Amino acid sequence: IFALRSSYCFSTGAAEPSSRLPSPPRVPNLIGGKFVDSQSSSTIDVINPATQEAVSRVPLTTNEEFRAAVSAAKQAFPAWRNTPITTRQRVMLKLQELIRRDIDKLAMNITTEQGKTLKDAHGDVFRGLEVVEHACGMATLQMGEYVPNVSNGMDPFSIREPLGVCAGICPFNFPAMIPLWMFPVAVTCGNTFILKPSEKDPGASIILAELAMEAGLPDGVLNIVHGTSDVVNAICDDDNIRAISFVGSNTAGMHIYSRASAKGKRVQSNMGAKNHAIVLPDANVDATLNALVAAGFGAAGQRCMALSTVVFVGDPQSWENKLVERAKSLKVNSGMEPDADLGPVISKQAKERVCRLIQSGVESGARLLLDGRNIVVPGFERGNFIGPTILSGVTADMECYKEEIFGPVLLCMEAGSFEEAINILNRNKYGNGAAIFTASGAAARKFQTEIEAGQVGINVPIPVPLPFFSFTGSKASFAGDLNFYGKAGVNFYTQIKTVTQQWKDLPGGSGVSLAMPTSQ
Ligand code: NAD
Repeated sequence: IFALRSSYCFSTGAAEPSSRLPSPPRVPNLIGGKFVDSQSSSTIDVINPATQEAVSRVPLTTNEEFRAAVSAAKQAFPAWRNTPITTRQRVMLKLQELIRRDIDKLAMNITTEQGKTLKDAHGDVFRGLEVVEHACGMATLQMGEYVPNVSNGMDPFSIREPLGVCAGICPFNFPAMIPLWMFPVAVTCGNTFILKPSEKDPGASIILAELAMEAGLPDGVLNIVHGTSDVVNAICDDDNIRAISFVGSNTAGMHIYSRASAKGKRVQSNMGAKNHAIVLPDANVDATLNALVAAGFGAAGQRCMALSTVVFVGDPQSWENKLVERAKSLKVNSGMEPDADLGPVISKQAKERVCRLIQSGVESGARLLLDGRNIVVPGFERGNFIGPTILSGVTADMECYKEEIFGPVLLCMEAGSFEEAINILNRNKYGNGAAIFTASGAAARKFQTEIEAGQVGINVPIPVPLPFFSFTGSKASFAGDLNFYGKAGVNFYTQIKTVTQQWKDLPGGSGVSLAMPTSQ
């Protein structure tokens, strides 16, 4: 094992024949404060989705290395939990400064490995940075409660203590934001952490861990392992790990939720989505069209908060025509190109899946108003590009409606009334986000009250809540009861201890009572 410090390099150039390329750098594990190359010979290539170039190679962490990471986290816990909270906060204060310093480097890495545009990649880092900023006020967030004199001089109080070793399992679509939803909150609460980045784009996690260590995070407090289901199962099964944060698909999320809870762990599992917007006839035309296009096609539709379905109340024709015009004007290109509005989807398999779902929509009777499947981007002919695609006349029984597409595809549906539109949304199994576009306060209020979704946008295309709130998906989009970040996130990473104390000179000789003590 040799120590690797600092970023393994990655190339951002266009694809070259593989015979001329040196083998891509191996992504290290982080164990006990050292970046170490894995002993594993099983690897997964991280592929630039715009060029097909192998950016790096992720070795699948071995069982022995996984156990070493958990052991390092376990050993680091007693000293870290006893480190004053003000010191832990100061590490976050430094980390937010370092993330700002290196935001361009992080964004470049994200665009290279994940494909989103550089501007969007900056947003990815920035939304995570805000969680780090929030963690700088952890002392206030983690405060307990106190009630004086509940009975005869007894003053009980509760304190929120860290759990121990926690773990986070990440998806590919936000390589910086989602790791930053997890470890900054967990470690500032006093826990130690095992992070498992997505095997598709682990680079941002490695850079963030380097920055966290530069900021003063002690060895072993944050560890990184790599792989897919084997290492995830090891995380679920390990008795030393007390809590798991997961973000990703329903298949993986429900598996992790049930396997880890069966072992007595806390799990918070943010999963898939099918976010709808309802457009009422009185909505502001220009603002609504801009919102639909931005939230439908931004990040090539690979956001869990993407607006993938719009339900027009009344005649959809003129809305759809204008939507097509705006979507057509979007520029599909490598995320590195300054004019790109949307980049490629993550993999060839993802592109095939999205194209298959578009085709299934057509075959089941939807009208293809805009078809982005055959797009070719000059200079990036091998990229996994799909242009903005719009299907209209979609109904709830179609496969393209029932499945999460996770690509730049907007489904248009029609409803005869507002009630009918609300029913369509509420019958959908997912509950991540929902939006309404209207000029009517009464309609907005009815929507906000009746809609069964965790995050509601009113003339806002489904906002991701800022860190003083929590990310509040519901129904099939979330399993667990304590959401990510905000107060709920702090509660997730801490357990309550209640202390009952009595400091009072008590009269002696009053005898012993074996009855249940009461406060009467
Ligand atoms: P994914 O489920 O394929 O992968 C997520 C993580 O789980 C990865 O680290 C992966 O290695 C691991 N994994 C995958 N299959 C596994 C299995 N069978 N057993 C154990 N572990 C497994 O998800 P993805 O494709 O990386 O991400 C896209 C999904 O994430 C979409 O469904 C999207 O909606 C969802 N997502 C949800 C939110 C949210 O907050 N609700 C945010 C971002 C992404």
